[in-house]
Amino acid sequence: MALIIDGKKVSSAVKEDVKKSVEELKKQGVNPCLAVIIVGNNPASRTYVNNKKKACEETGIISKEIALDEGTSTEQLLEIIEKLNLDRDVNGILCQLPVPGHIDESKVISAISPDKDVDAFHAVNVGKLLQGVQSFQPCTPAGIIKMLDYYNIGIEGKNCVIIGRSNIVGKPMSMLLLQKNGTVTIAHSKTKNLKEITKTADILVAAVGRANFVTADMVKDGAVVIDVGINRNEDGKLCGDVLFDEVEKKASYITPVPGGVGPMTVSMLLENTVTAAKIQNNLK
Ligand code: NDP
Repeated sequence: MALIIDGKKVSSAVKEDVKKSVEELKKQGVNPCLAVIIVGNNPASRTYVNNKKKACEETGIISKEIALDEGTSTEQLLEIIEKLNLDRDVNGILCQLPVPGHIDESKVISAISPDKDVDAFHAVNVGKLLQGVQSFQPCTPAGIIKMLDYYNIGIEGKNCVIIGRSNIVGKPMSMLLLQKNGTVTIAHSKTKNLKEITKTADILVAAVGRANFVTADMVKDGAVVIDVGINRNEDGKLCGDVLFDEVEKKASYITPVPGGVGPMTVSMLLENTVTAAKIQNNLK
């Protein structure tokens, strides 16, 4: 039976550290502030934005919400981002994705100043990640590394298999695992013999976006299984990419959904906001 990796617990520990850092910054006259842009009325986006605002409040970070109509154009959005880029009271900027289809998402990502890009999506920050010199950690993958560290799960020399190659999860995850000296394989929808590959994984990260995709026969005995997926099953219940009840019997460690990777993503965003405030004020 696997040990459950408690994302809420690790996330609370990160938030406590963030809170202390914010208090220190305030003593030096710096009030870390995160601007969160939301366009339209996507209910999932609204929930994510509310969670981020709540987490800011818990840790003393000022959160500034910019809620825009569904009909906002790319140009209007870019103008708002430019104002936030220039606003010295704003340290971090994020635009909740996805934006409505008529908005050019790549222009939005490129418009956010790399120094305030707390999601680490800007090409400059992606390039730095590739070079291993990043200031901002890609939130979801960095949250996963934090959880592994917290549970003393070593990465060096381990076979790490990631299912999924998105810019948000799969690709940056591969870079962070590589930085930690894991031997990394990335699988995707065109991968042949997926099961043979996943069965070699000491650490298996599922970022597919398909309910209960990873079954026990895809998992090696004693593997560490990290479930990034946020899906709804046929009953409308929240579930991950991993068939938890089966896989937990085989894994050594496993993250639940909810309560695993999700809370970590938000905590890492807070950490990045503190980092941004420090960099912008030449503080360590
Ligand atoms: P994407 O849809 O961008 O990427 C999914 C990846 O899965 C793609 O690379 C795709 O391959 C691959 N894939 C799809 N089908 C298969 C298959 N049959 N076999 C192997 N690979 C397959 O999703 P994201 O990376 O953005 O998100 C993944 C999941 O994680 C979602 O459920 C999302 O909601 C969740 N998520 C959770 C977060 C959290 O904080 N917990 C944060 C971000 C995301 P290909 O590239 O070939 O199409």
